[in-house]
Parts: sequence; C-alpha cells; structure tokens
Amino acid sequence: MDSCLFCKIVKGEIPSYKIYEDDKTLSFLDVFPISEGHSLIIPKKHAQFVEELDNETASAVFNTTIKISKKLRNKLNVPATTIGIHNGKESGQEIPHMHIHVIPREESDGGGPINIVMANGKFNKPTDEELKALFEKLSK
Ligand SMILES: [Zn+2]
Repeated sequence: MDSCLFCKIVKGEIPSYKIYEDDKTLSFLDVFPISEGHSLIIPKKHAQFVEELDNETASAVFNTTIKISKKLRNKLNVPATTIGIHNGKESGQEIPHMHIHVIPREESDGGGPINIVMANGKFNKPTDEELKALFEKLSK
C-alpha cells in the first residue's frame, strides 16, 4: 500500500531501528515507546487486521514475536513483556498496518495491565542517542 507508513519502512523508504528481519516479517523499535525496548513486529505484506493474514504469515508474525520477546527479556534483563495488538482504529491502532507490540515490563513499572501504564505516561520519549544505543544492543 503506497501511503502506508509501515509499508514504506518495509521498502526502506523510511528509516527504522530494525532489530530483526526475515522473508515475511520485520521488527523495529517503536519511536514512541512506553518502556525501554518497546518493539513492533509487522508482516511485510500489507494487512490492517489480523483476520486478513494468511496462516503462513500469521504463524511467521507470531514466531517473530516470540523471538523478539526472548531477545528483549535476555538482552535488557527484564522479567516480563506485555504483548498486544490493536486490531482496528477504534481499538487504538494508529497505523493501519497490522502490528504486534512487545513491551518490556518490570515490577517497578507498577506491574499492571498495559492501559494503566499508558494512562500514567510514566515513560518519556527517548533521545536519538538513547534509541541508537538501544538499537546497537538489539540489532545483533
Ligand atoms: Zn502497510
């Protein structure tokens, strides 16, 4: 889809902090993270809703989600992640290209559900230097 931001990231027309890629999926750092290491996983083929994914793509997206959750827990030394999908605009989906959020979690963040953390706005947008450092840590 020509006007889609995430399709442009897939095509390399817009830069991203890519931390994983295979033939069907891509993972990159969220530029508006709600915790350090907050990452997104997307199918390379455009689809807005999970229902539009064929089985092979759905499987690939979830397998990548597992890899990213493992990577974040190991490399950032956090005990947990919250994994979420906003499936449609009314659910909070801001980019109409299906994506899975993987959000590193710690007890000190309140240990609550994601909406509480988001509502509190405890996490500030990182500087470019902080994003680059995180990218260095997670892109290998
Ligand atoms: Zn797209």
